[in-house]
Amino acid sequence: MDGALGPPEKMAERGDDLTPMLSQYYDLCAEYDDSLVLFQVGDFYETFCEAAEITARLLEITRTQREDSTGTYPMAGIPIDNAESYIETLLDAGYRVAVADQVQDPEEATGVVERAVTRIVTPGTLTEDELLDTEDNNFVACLTEDPDRYGLALLDVSTGDFYVTSARRESAIADEVSRFAPAEAIVEPGTDADPFDADCMVSPYDAEAFDAEAAAERVEAYFGSPDTQLAEDVETRACGALLAYAEYTRGGEDGGSADAADRLDYLNHLTRYEPREYMLLDRVALGSLELFERRTVHGDEDVTLLGVLDETSCALGSRKLKDWLRRPLLEPDRIESRLDAVEEWTRRVQAREAAREQLRDVYDIERLIARISRGRANARDLRSLKATLDVVPELKATMDGFESERLVELREALDELADVRDRIDRAIREDPAREITEGDVIKPSYDDELAELRETEREGKAWIDDLEASERERTGIDSLKVGHNSVHGYYIEVTNPNLDSVPDDYNRRQTLKNAERFYTPELKEREDEILRAENRADDLEHELFREVRREVAGESERVQAVADALAQLDVLAALAEVAATRDYARPEIVDESDGDGSGLRIEGGRHPVVERTQRSFVPNDTDLDSERHFAVVTGPNMSGKSTYMRQVALITVLAQTGSFVPAASARIEPVDRIFTRVGASDDIAGGRSTFMVEMTELAAILQSATEDSLVLLDEVGRGTSTTDGLAIARAVTEYVHDEVGALTLFATHHHELTETADDLPGAFNLHFAAERTDEEVVFDHEVREGAATASYGVQVAREAGVPDAVVERSKDLLADADDGPEESAASGPPDAAERESLPERGSPPERESPPEVVADGSAVGGDLATRLREVDVATMTPLEAMNELAELKREVE
Ligand code: ADP
Repeated sequence: MDGALGPPEKMAERGDDLTPMLSQYYDLCAEYDDSLVLFQVGDFYETFCEAAEITARLLEITRTQREDSTGTYPMAGIPIDNAESYIETLLDAGYRVAVADQVQDPEEATGVVERAVTRIVTPGTLTEDELLDTEDNNFVACLTEDPDRYGLALLDVSTGDFYVTSARRESAIADEVSRFAPAEAIVEPGTDADPFDADCMVSPYDAEAFDAEAAAERVEAYFGSPDTQLAEDVETRACGALLAYAEYTRGGEDGGSADAADRLDYLNHLTRYEPREYMLLDRVALGSLELFERRTVHGDEDVTLLGVLDETSCALGSRKLKDWLRRPLLEPDRIESRLDAVEEWTRRVQAREAAREQLRDVYDIERLIARISRGRANARDLRSLKATLDVVPELKATMDGFESERLVELREALDELADVRDRIDRAIREDPAREITEGDVIKPSYDDELAELRETEREGKAWIDDLEASERERTGIDSLKVGHNSVHGYYIEVTNPNLDSVPDDYNRRQTLKNAERFYTPELKEREDEILRAENRADDLEHELFREVRREVAGESERVQAVADALAQLDVLAALAEVAATRDYARPEIVDESDGDGSGLRIEGGRHPVVERTQRSFVPNDTDLDSERHFAVVTGPNMSGKSTYMRQVALITVLAQTGSFVPAASARIEPVDRIFTRVGASDDIAGGRSTFMVEMTELAAILQSATEDSLVLLDEVGRGTSTTDGLAIARAVTEYVHDEVGALTLFATHHHELTETADDLPGAFNLHFAAERTDEEVVFDHEVREGAATASYGVQVAREAGVPDAVVERSKDLLADADDGPEESAASGPPDAAERESLPERGSPPERESPPEVVADGSAVGGDLATRLREVDVATMTPLEAMNELAELKREVE
């Protein structure tokens, strides 16, 4: 991956001369040559040579030198205590990190301390909570290819979510990649990953793991016979390689490889799906509809569709909601089942409140069980699992008498796991220590031997507590003290003046300035006994803890089933909360096979995100079906066209996710895919590249849209000249209308297109109007049938903040142009040109006083008139308009 990785050259030159420690480092670097090796030396993780240069630079830590008999080596280290944040920086910079811990007690080592790589941290295989976003999955993807098929497997190592699919076209896989947005991808060596468009670290992995037979065996070991599920070789190979990678990056239990299971038993569930099973939302659509991320921030609020919907109470629900939104459903039955559940939650107001409160006590048990299963969980994690299981019976009680099929099923799926819960409760202390090797983890009552050892320890300590008093009495030394320090252990301290009174059985342990410290044979014996008991008890606790942890790990599948039920209940209740508080309506889902071609019928629809940022939002209707499937939407800038189009798409996404929708009513026939070509107006930089992007997106739409798709087109042909743009827009309209038949909303400034719509049977016009007063344009944001009649570039320029002087001048110029002698030479159909860029005839106020023509008279005015006629105000962005005006003004002056 990086030329600097692998064993350092400088050490290679030394060969056998290296000190044992550096030779150990060298070997680990050679073995993990795709990773940066962090090498534990005491309280630090050290890196050497080239790796030290990298870490020093990226982590802003000091680079020092290590000198030994064989030479001087650059060295840079990070403290183990806050290694995670440093590791995160290394990941962000594109590195994998192999953590090599000391796996032997230095005191027990005869030579160099034994070290082993205990985990490999990569962006896609994180399991440490500190490094993960609780509200999002963290996927690692694996891409495979055959001559005629492409495979994709996706695994969230931190939760066990595992998906696989395949397709004949690369672009279909690329769409799935953007749907899941993996943090990392692996490919077979030699594979070109570019076409998959993965926006993450992509690296080749061990070719052997991709071998068809090896992969099939691995898949079988995890999920049973592979051929029942995975029909395609590319799928088996992708899954097999990914499992191998997950095992490779796992490392050993608690930082040692001692007793970690070979398999990761929490990976027990594989979901195979067809891209066509879900509504397709490609990268462009995900972005422009702002489902998860905001592209532009309007106003102060930075909200997305996910942000509006996420009223979930726990991390499990939050992740599930995102998962549902990422994959809206197509089958009416599945959608209805969710809607029934949401509806029931909306009706059961009190139960909903209670449940949402209870769900707040639910820990992220999906990630907990993964850590438990990987042997990386501590006692607190087990306690958190227990606390979550305590919620289960409460929640079941809350849902007593629920009726919708889905909720009844989910309630039944809420296994209390009483055995697991009780085992944890019996074994693990209420408030256990964070470390699992140093005691204070297991309740003494859990194990007889442990209880005995702790009792011995307690008795011994009690004896010592009493010792001071009894020795004072025996010796008659009132100032005698019994104490403890970590080097010398227990001692009896006598000050110098009293040394004469010391009995014979006192042995000298330590001499201080004013006192001597002693021990007696009996004290020594007691002390040894306490120590022995303590050490043995700590070890025993560690052992017992791991036993309990393994046992709980063995119940992964059941815990995951509970986690899934809790997550779904949380999402359904959250959707109900949104529906109830935001006045959403249950959509009617129409089955395509019913054949009434009902398409999309929305009454009083609102944009779920914009309505939150707007003081008042104007609801609008939508009616698209197979008869009237192509709407040309016209209206001036800022009148609400793109808000309207996106709102239609978002309502569709919501409905197919199983959510209520922001509308008075909605009848929706599921769409197979939403295509968007919107937002060129945001690309103020404009120019060629914008046009290229636009055409690429357009090509994808024209190639893959079907009559069941929803297509949003905004200003197609904008990035090129007016004539080209119009020609393209017209051709696209005809093609989509005649050949594709998709439900389409096409916003345009080309008023000529409204005539095209009149000519095509399935097309019709919609428009947004504007009320024009003398000084400003007022939009009512209301969609109406028919074509728009005017757009008001100049006023929009004023609203955008163009200085008054410029606006005034442009009004004059417009008026002038209107009167100008070359009017008949205007390009384009005269009525269109007039509608688009000129004030209506009549008595505009600026006519009353003649335009102020500059001193040198008509020559300049005439030039300007020509220039102005060439300007297509309607298709300009405010900034372009401003620049143009500034330019004209400069010329005039
Ligand atoms: P266009 O695409 O026609 O240029 P937009 O859809 O971007 O216009 O809308 C411009 C602004 O108008 C939005 O940012 C929003 O603030 C407001 N707006 C749009 N539609 C509505 C509506 N239905 N009700 C209230 N405000 C709206």
